[in-house]
Amino acid sequence: MRITREEAERFDREDPFAALRAEFALPGDVIYLDGNSLGPLPKRLPERIAHHLSGEWGHRLIHGWSESGWIDLPRRVGVRIAPLIGAGADEVLAADSTSANLYKLAAAASQALPDRTTILTEERNFPTDGYMLEGLARLATTLGGRLNLRRAPRAALIDAIDGTTALVALTHVDYRSSEMWDMAPVAAAARAAGAFSLFDLSHSVGAVPVDLNGAGVDLAVGCGYKFLNGGPGAPAFLFVAARHHARLISPLAGWMGHRAPFDFSPDYAPAPGIDRFACGTPPISGLVALECALELFEGVDLALLHRKAMRLCDIFRGEIEGLPGVRFLSPANTGMRGAHVALAHADAASLIAGLAAQGIIGDFRPPDIMRFGFGALYLRHVEAHEAGRRLAALLRETGQR
Ligand SMILES: *Cc1c(COP(=O)(O)O)cnc(C)c1O
Repeated sequence: MRITREEAERFDREDPFAALRAEFALPGDVIYLDGNSLGPLPKRLPERIAHHLSGEWGHRLIHGWSESGWIDLPRRVGVRIAPLIGAGADEVLAADSTSANLYKLAAAASQALPDRTTILTEERNFPTDGYMLEGLARLATTLGGRLNLRRAPRAALIDAIDGTTALVALTHVDYRSSEMWDMAPVAAAARAAGAFSLFDLSHSVGAVPVDLNGAGVDLAVGCGYKFLNGGPGAPAFLFVAARHHARLISPLAGWMGHRAPFDFSPDYAPAPGIDRFACGTPPISGLVALECALELFEGVDLALLHRKAMRLCDIFRGEIEGLPGVRFLSPANTGMRGAHVALAHADAASLIAGLAAQGIIGDFRPPDIMRFGFGALYLRHVEAHEAGRRLAALLRETGQR
């Protein structure tokens, strides 16, 4: 999509999310295209955190756990995330990191199907996902069980599901190419084979509409600091479909997942619902920040937000398309990609540095990939247009050298 600056300005005037821009702290001389790695600071957050520190911790001390409702925060934040991912309010818990949550759910699924020997993933899944699953398989095997991680190419993945599969673990939106899985057929194939399905929503949540229950997905995890804007190292979340709550047990059987943690019983008895997937004491300040950031999604129509993100991507792309040496990795089909654009170029590292010198922040993924995230809550169409123009100018210069 090639448009003029005036058309971009018109899109901004007609943008239903335009008012949300003022909710974010974005330096005036920066075009921020890395919200898929770390979302920007919500302006209301510093005051909220200051109140949490001085008014709650500083004032109430340990009584903050009850008087300020800290103990309920993992669930309260889960309730706010649930509508963003098509989950029930009692199916989501904010906890730990995405990596740790993936491990907990993958182990719980494998343990529930002890005769199954395979966890299946995509060969280009996000590194930590592969590492965690491999670590789980290694542990199980070292302890005398049998569990392998099988990595299949995307196109062969569904056919690779068979009677040995305990779990199919995929990332919904690919962190490099932005390609999106259609979750329903994967979940259906897993279910038909008697296996669990798990999706990592790190690059989806807050960027694209997700309907876990509509798609029949069993398990999910995701990240709080990308499109949810929860801050650096924000707590992650996990989803377990209610039909599995009684059957799955966390391998990290910490006291916060106990039915009655403050009974201090020597015997572990898991909490009845999603709470059983908690492990240790939750990071309250991080949860306060994430809860505050999630307020900005209240009343946001995610289908509409995704449509805006697709348009931002297309405006950016329109300035670059056809220039020599560039290869787009993201699919053109707007229904099947997330809210970032990835392109390959031999000089990707210096192009990203050249953009950064002009206040345009994207990111470089070795060996030759440039990635640009389009957080549609706060970005303007003119910024997508301007960033595309600047990158195109750099590409022309590079081409002439
Ligand atoms: C960002 C991301 C993670 C991050 O994992 P952490 O444990 O929170 O560091 C995991 N998986 C995917 C697919 C991601 O994009």
